[in-house]
Amino acid sequence: MREEFRYLCRMEHAKKRILTGDRPTGKLHLGHCVGTLENRVRLHRAYECFFIIADLHMLTTKNSKEDIQKTAENARHLVLDNIAAGIDPDLATFYLQSAIPEVAEMNTLFQNLISVPRLERIPSLKEMARDTGKSEMPYGLLGYPVLQSADILCVKGELVPVGKDNAAHVEVTREIARRFNHLYGEVFPIPEVLVGDVPTLVGTDGGAKMSKSLNNTIYLSDDSKSVDKKVMGMFTDPNRIRADIPGRIEGNPVFIYHDIFNPDKAEIQNLKERYQQGTVGDVEVKEKLARALNAFLDPIRERRAHFEQQKGFVDEVIYDGTQKVRKEVQKTLYEMRKAMGFVTAWRSIERKATDRIKTHSSSASDTTL
Ligand code: ATP
Ligand code: MG
Repeated sequence: MREEFRYLCRMEHAKKRILTGDRPTGKLHLGHCVGTLENRVRLHRAYECFFIIADLHMLTTKNSKEDIQKTAENARHLVLDNIAAGIDPDLATFYLQSAIPEVAEMNTLFQNLISVPRLERIPSLKEMARDTGKSEMPYGLLGYPVLQSADILCVKGELVPVGKDNAAHVEVTREIARRFNHLYGEVFPIPEVLVGDVPTLVGTDGGAKMSKSLNNTIYLSDDSKSVDKKVMGMFTDPNRIRADIPGRIEGNPVFIYHDIFNPDKAEIQNLKERYQQGTVGDVEVKEKLARALNAFLDPIRERRAHFEQQKGFVDEVIYDGTQKVRKEVQKTLYEMRKAMGFVTAWRSIERKATDRIKTHSSSASDTTL
């Protein structure tokens, strides 16, 4: 029996698989870019890529009818943003999580492979509950990493490029995959996490994380005027109330962004020195940052506009991708059910039931003759 599963695992895909994605809670921002998008773009030709639009995950913090109504629109934005950032839509599969009900079944099958205290120790879940103003942890939010395990393992993902807040969830996935393989037979690869060059990008407000839900973002689709405005309103050194006061560059979001997005290293060095001496105003530092950000975003905006004009294009990408992934998930779920013994249990009942039904119907037809 075990050999059969090993064979199934071996015969699968030629390229290694990536699974990652986003919640359809808004457009993608600079944090996504450095946390995960850059890795997606860099690796998507070498790997077989599955990009989830994680609307079931959205429910853990946003589950009003209005939130769900925005799913289609936000899903289109996510796909456009990914493509605009450099993903070739022919080389990646985008799919809508809630359109694949088998994922929910896998989630159920995984739920008993991890303990509640283990999940309760994950800091990102507490932060999410806090950020959305929940006084108590919803059951679904505690189970976020278990559902994420179903997402990763349903396509047998081997590499998961995510931001730092998500890394602990991939660790849970590794534990669940190992436990499943140990208990029932080898079905799953043990996925590796890949955190971006900037594991967590701070928000424009100086908050710990730029986040769609926190209103502290610069979106990849923002026009240059919005970027100028957002940069001018950015949090800097709060003690520097005049330009002639020496300022702090450590932990200052304006300089963090300069270091990441401004390719002119000499300009940054000069600004840093003058900032620390108190010989440059915040306005100049911010104007130069806005210019660098706009130069970074220009090609992304252009590519976005190109694909946005093609009516129905992203919908087709999501539709086709979802059909394709659903078949993959059904295959994996069957392997799981078989390994766990559910297939055999049902077949045994089915066989005896059909035998009896046949006997009944033949004796009934005997009497009617
Ligand atoms: P939400 O506020 O709705 O949770 P989000 O901005 O956190 O939205 P997600 O869709 O939850 O975005 O995250 C998608 C991916 O982007 C994840 O891999 C996450 O780790 C990464 N990511 C999100 N924000 C940042 C950030 N500020 N820095 C680095 N990576 C990030
Ligand atoms: Mg998030």
